Amino acid sequence: MITFLYAILLMAIMGFGVGLGLSIASKKFEVKEDPKVKEVLNVLPGANCGMCGYAGCAAYAHAIVEQHASFDLCVPGRKGGVGEKVKEIMTKASSENTNTQKQTASH
Ligand code: SF4
Repeated sequence: MITFLYAILLMAIMGFGVGLGLSIASKKFEVKEDPKVKEVLNVLPGANCGMCGYAGCAAYAHAIVEQHASFDLCVPGRKGGVGEKVKEIMTKASSENTNTQKQTASH
Protein backbone atom coordinates (compact mmCIF):
# COMPACT_ATOMS: atom_id res chain seq x y z
CA MET A 1 0.00 0.00 0.00
CA ILE A 2 2.81 2.44 0.90
CA THR A 3 4.47 1.78 -2.48
CA PHE A 4 1.24 2.77 -4.22
CA LEU A 5 1.12 6.06 -2.29
CA TYR A 6 4.76 6.79 -3.13
CA ALA A 7 4.00 6.19 -6.81
CA ILE A 8 1.07 8.60 -6.70
CA LEU A 9 3.12 11.22 -4.83
CA LEU A 10 5.98 10.85 -7.32
CA MET A 11 3.61 11.26 -10.27
CA ALA A 12 2.05 14.36 -8.69
CA ILE A 13 5.46 15.95 -8.09
CA MET A 14 6.61 15.10 -11.62
CA GLY A 15 3.37 16.48 -13.08
CA PHE A 16 3.74 19.72 -11.15
CA GLY A 17 7.39 20.06 -12.20
CA VAL A 18 6.69 19.45 -15.89
CA GLY A 19 3.69 21.81 -15.80
CA LEU A 20 5.75 24.54 -14.17
CA GLY A 21 8.56 24.03 -16.69
CA LEU A 22 6.17 24.25 -19.65
CA SER A 23 4.54 27.35 -18.20
CA ILE A 24 7.89 29.12 -17.81
CA ALA A 25 9.03 28.02 -21.29
CA SER A 26 5.81 29.28 -22.91
CA LYS A 27 6.33 32.72 -21.35
CA LYS A 28 10.05 32.84 -22.15
CA PHE A 29 9.73 31.74 -25.79
CA GLU A 30 6.44 33.51 -26.51
CA VAL A 31 6.24 34.92 -30.05
CA LYS A 32 4.71 38.39 -30.06
CA GLU A 33 2.29 38.92 -32.93
CA ASP A 34 1.32 42.29 -34.32
CA PRO A 35 -2.33 42.90 -33.22
CA LYS A 36 -3.13 44.19 -36.72
CA VAL A 37 -2.74 40.62 -38.05
CA LYS A 38 -5.68 39.50 -35.91
CA GLU A 39 -7.75 42.54 -36.92
CA VAL A 40 -7.14 41.85 -40.61
CA LEU A 41 -7.80 38.14 -40.16
CA ASN A 42 -11.15 38.96 -38.53
CA VAL A 43 -12.42 40.74 -41.67
CA LEU A 44 -11.22 38.06 -44.11
CA PRO A 45 -13.89 35.49 -45.07
CA GLY A 46 -12.06 32.54 -43.53
CA ALA A 47 -12.63 30.23 -46.50
CA ASN A 48 -8.90 29.36 -46.69
CA CYS A 49 -9.34 28.78 -50.40
CA GLY A 50 -5.93 30.11 -51.44
CA MET A 51 -7.27 32.25 -54.31
CA CYS A 52 -5.28 35.21 -52.97
CA GLY A 53 -2.08 33.31 -53.69
CA TYR A 54 -1.30 32.56 -50.06
CA ALA A 55 -1.69 29.32 -48.12
CA GLY A 56 -4.82 30.58 -46.34
CA CYS A 57 -6.43 33.59 -44.71
CA ALA A 58 -3.90 33.71 -41.85
CA ALA A 59 -0.96 33.67 -44.28
CA TYR A 60 -2.58 36.47 -46.29
CA ALA A 61 -3.21 38.53 -43.13
CA HIS A 62 0.45 38.15 -42.15
CA ALA A 63 1.52 39.14 -45.68
CA ILE A 64 -0.64 42.29 -45.60
CA VAL A 65 0.70 43.46 -42.26
CA GLU A 66 4.31 42.32 -42.48
CA GLN A 67 5.08 42.39 -46.21
CA HIS A 68 2.65 45.10 -47.37
CA ALA A 69 0.79 42.76 -49.73
CA SER A 70 -2.02 44.23 -51.82
CA PHE A 71 -5.37 44.67 -49.99
CA ASP A 72 -7.60 43.37 -52.78
CA LEU A 73 -6.31 39.88 -53.46
CA CYS A 74 -9.16 38.09 -51.66
CA VAL A 75 -11.50 37.04 -54.45
CA PRO A 76 -14.36 35.65 -52.28
CA GLY A 77 -14.32 38.82 -50.15
CA ARG A 78 -14.59 41.32 -53.00
CA LYS A 79 -18.38 41.52 -52.94
CA GLY A 80 -18.35 42.09 -49.19
CA GLY A 81 -15.80 44.90 -49.45
CA VAL A 82 -13.04 43.05 -47.63
CA GLY A 83 -10.36 45.06 -49.45
CA GLU A 84 -11.81 48.34 -48.18
CA LYS A 85 -12.07 47.03 -44.63
CA VAL A 86 -8.47 45.84 -44.70
CA LYS A 87 -7.37 49.19 -46.15
CA GLU A 88 -9.23 50.96 -43.29
CA ILE A 89 -7.45 48.85 -40.68
CA MET A 90 -4.04 49.41 -42.21
CA THR A 91 -4.63 53.14 -42.75
CA LYS A 92 -5.84 53.56 -39.16
CA ALA A 93 -2.81 51.65 -37.91
CA SER A 94 -0.35 53.74 -39.93
CA SER A 95 -1.96 57.04 -38.84
CA GLU A 96 -1.80 55.90 -35.20
CA ASN A 97 1.90 55.13 -35.67
CA THR A 98 2.47 58.57 -37.17
CA ASN A 99 0.66 60.27 -34.26
CA THR A 100 2.69 58.26 -31.73
CA GLN A 101 5.92 59.22 -33.50
CA LYS A 102 4.91 62.91 -33.51
CA GLN A 103 4.09 62.78 -29.77
CA THR A 104 7.38 61.05 -29.04
CA ALA A 105 9.32 63.60 -31.10
CA SER A 106 7.65 66.57 -29.39
CA HIS A 107 8.72 65.40 -25.90
S1 SF4 B 1 -8.71 34.38 -51.09
FE1 SF4 B 1 -9.68 35.22 -49.24
S2 SF4 B 1 -10.82 33.49 -48.36
FE2 SF4 B 1 -9.35 32.63 -49.82
S3 SF4 B 1 -7.53 32.15 -48.56
FE3 SF4 B 1 -7.22 34.18 -49.42
S4 SF4 B 1 -7.97 35.57 -47.83
FE4 SF4 B 1 -8.82 33.53 -47.36
